Amino acid sequence: MPMQRFIQRLVKKLSPKRLSQPSPSGPTSKQILSRDQHGVSRSQIDKHALDVLYGLKRAGYEAYLVGGGVRDLLLGLEPKDFDVVTNAEPEAVKAVFKNKCRLIGRRFRLAHVRFGRQIIEVATFRGDSEASEVADKPKGRGRLNHTRAVDGQGRLLRDNVYGGMDEDVWRRDFTVNSLYYNIRDFSVADYTGGLDDIKAGVIRLIGDPETRYREDPVRMIRAVRFAAKLGFEIEPGTRDPIYDLAPLLKDVSHARMFEEVLKLFHSGVAVQVFEKLRHFGLFAYLFPQTEQMLAEQADGFPRMLVIEALKSTDDRIRHGKGVNPAFLFAAMLWEPMVARREQLLTEGLKPQDATFAAASDVLEWQRPATAVPRRFIGQVKDIWNLQYRLPRYQGDKAQKIVSHPRFRAAYDFLGVRVSAGAEELKEVFDWWTHYQTLDGVEQVAYANQVKKPGSRRRRPRRNRNPYRKRANPAPGKESPATPNEQD
Ligand code: ATP
Ligand code: MG
Repeated sequence: MPMQRFIQRLVKKLSPKRLSQPSPSGPTSKQILSRDQHGVSRSQIDKHALDVLYGLKRAGYEAYLVGGGVRDLLLGLEPKDFDVVTNAEPEAVKAVFKNKCRLIGRRFRLAHVRFGRQIIEVATFRGDSEASEVADKPKGRGRLNHTRAVDGQGRLLRDNVYGGMDEDVWRRDFTVNSLYYNIRDFSVADYTGGLDDIKAGVIRLIGDPETRYREDPVRMIRAVRFAAKLGFEIEPGTRDPIYDLAPLLKDVSHARMFEEVLKLFHSGVAVQVFEKLRHFGLFAYLFPQTEQMLAEQADGFPRMLVIEALKSTDDRIRHGKGVNPAFLFAAMLWEPMVARREQLLTEGLKPQDATFAAASDVLEWQRPATAVPRRFIGQVKDIWNLQYRLPRYQGDKAQKIVSHPRFRAAYDFLGVRVSAGAEELKEVFDWWTHYQTLDGVEQVAYANQVKKPGSRRRRPRRNRNPYRKRANPAPGKESPATPNEQD
């Protein structure tokens, strides 16, 4: 790896491209493609995005489609969402769309225009950096608008300096994201060389890469996401600083990191994203405990588990099925949880207590990297706990397990563990697969015929004393679970 980086730096030094990051002061290649020179048609644009564009136009404002919507349509892909940019300030956007519109964000003030469950995000053109200030002076509330602020490290704390399109184009992250579809004449404007980069399949930061990464370290993981999603190369000037600047991710708020992690791994190309994040040393800042396990365990098993989980996530997305953040976190943190649980078992905790405690510890230790909202924490714990209940399906336990709201996710996760090499679980997985094909009566009969090898003979119910204290099982051995004891 150090040799590889040395060569990359050398190439970077020798490469004339290094001097050619697009910037407002450098040579620019402004191009306007008229309607007949590009393939973006209104029929491909979401109806509500068009409503917003036309609404702003009717109110006398400039309005453009920008970002992924234009980029993906030019590439013949289906855009994930449509972003709008205008010269109307957020309050003016609110005046146009009235109660359909909410203003959000302090750091980057935006308007959200709501159509039922769909939201169209409307940004106001950002201005140039003249108005930047270093944020060590006290600020009154009145200064929220019309300011840009960076901290001592160059991190952008706030960017609410408004301007025109000719300034906004340089505030975008990558050239391919800085293409503007004008609703007035249906032309596409390109100031930063984005059209050429789309043709060449290149992800290129606008401006000086180090400054832009310091302003917002999330741009490093966005570069990786777009490269994986579009199958593009990250050009050397944009790529090389990432190796050194990766630790800046530590300073990004953990709530924003959670959102970014979902975008990364629910992109439909999660496996490639994972490989690239590891290559750049970025993964360690998203899942530090997982990275540590990957680094320590040379036999590749945990790595297989993460990859199998991501493959299954990609597959679900390809087939238009829903994906659950809890499943992703359960998979990413499974190995750290198992390791912690083992440790707690050797310290003498009972199995179910060890599972509880390990789950809480591992999720707590994950928090500084990415906050996980409370509702997902509960679901991750359920998926983990069910892993210890699924092998014990005899009799009426099966019905209780199958009616658990997280059964399906837990069953899928069991399947991922089998695919990743946990051969000993294959029989259990197959059992549940068959169980789900049966109707209610058949399920009861099927569960009752099971006699697991080595399972304890059931004592007649009348002899059981529920108040009698059970002896501690030997470390590492499960006590037979009673329903819900691990929930
Ligand atoms: P997709 O929606 O497919 O993930 P996108 O490019 O539309 O990709 P969004 O997060 O929706 O990404 O952002 C919309 C646009 O806003 C981007 O294309 C880019 O122009 C700009 N943008 C987003 N995040 C940043 C950032 N961190 N720095 C600079 N510009 C950004
Ligand atoms: Mg978008």
